[in-house]
Amino acid sequence: TSTPDTVLQVSALLPGLERELSARYRTVRLPELPDAAGYLRDHGSDVVAAVTSARVGVGDALMDALPRLGAIVHFGVGYETTDVVRARARGIDVSNTPDVLTDCVADLAVGALIDVMRGMSAADRYVRAGGWDGAPFPLATRVSGKRVGILGLGRIGRAVARRLDGFGMEVSYCTRSPVPGVGYRHVPTAEALAEACDALVVTVAGGRGTEGLVSAAVLDALGPEGYLVNVARGSVVDERALVAAVESERIAGAALDVFADEPNVPQALLGSDRVVLLPHIASATRETRAAMGDLALRNLRRFMTEGVLLTPVPEASRPAH
Ligand code: NDP
Repeated sequence: TSTPDTVLQVSALLPGLERELSARYRTVRLPELPDAAGYLRDHGSDVVAAVTSARVGVGDALMDALPRLGAIVHFGVGYETTDVVRARARGIDVSNTPDVLTDCVADLAVGALIDVMRGMSAADRYVRAGGWDGAPFPLATRVSGKRVGILGLGRIGRAVARRLDGFGMEVSYCTRSPVPGVGYRHVPTAEALAEACDALVVTVAGGRGTEGLVSAAVLDALGPEGYLVNVARGSVVDERALVAAVESERIAGAALDVFADEPNVPQALLGSDRVVLLPHIASATRETRAAMGDLALRNLRRFMTEGVLLTPVPEASRPAH
């Protein structure tokens, strides 16, 4: 007797995507199982594909409980929550949803940059609190023409840079290897980049390779006139060092869409007008989320019919070692 091929939904997903999964495949929703461990023990070998959010991924123990797993489909572009090298070694392919979210994430990064430099969210609070007829709102910092450092000039970083060109900003960037064919200045380290700019926009990949990349030293290099924007991952910034730098005014301000321990935001930042705090919404538009769901579904469909993914992550094509 052959085992029924099952799609395991590892985390909560968009309602529309969940509906499509259940309509098209024998789908089991892991978070809704009363006895997940029991299910994995008795039926783990039914599962041929897993669909999950970028935030949750597929951990090592879950991977081990699914001996026939052939594909991990992430809803999102970051996939540091899944150990891709380990997956490859087990013959599991991994996909993400690149490109379709790039514009919206870049839009939000630029919006956040303008917000923190011009004090827009703080000004909104000032108006709502009835402050307008009292002391004038403090002067802000000019945005156009300033120097911006982009940490990670990938799809999103480049889309941010293109937008900033329109503001007459001078863009430089830091990546491990210079990006061919771009006119922006490559700077070899995050610290040198921070030193050379008025605002540092973080768009690198997350994961172990970039953990704490924006260190206390980088924040000090950014300096008391410098602004930080992070739309990448909370793990990239040493959050304690950031809180200290904001509190002691060693940097001018920060706009953050991502945090080290979401949804927990450091208490010390909540009362500060020097920071803009966003609940990880950079890709969260109806249009982009629908496109991400569609791309995740197309990856799954391709795998279920042809055994290959449509947008495998780069590591997935490297030989395992
Ligand atoms: P890409 O893979 O296209 O870009 C990643 C960039 O990071 C590359 O330029 C890479 O260059 C650079 N990079 C990686 N490691 C380092 C390092 N140690 N030092 C300097 N640069 C480094 O990814 P995307 O642009 O599509 O996405 C970027 C990230 O944005 C995602 O990984 C995700 O974490 C985040 N994101 C956040 C969202 C949100 O909701 N806030 C939504 C979508 C994405 P090189 O390899 O040459 O170093």
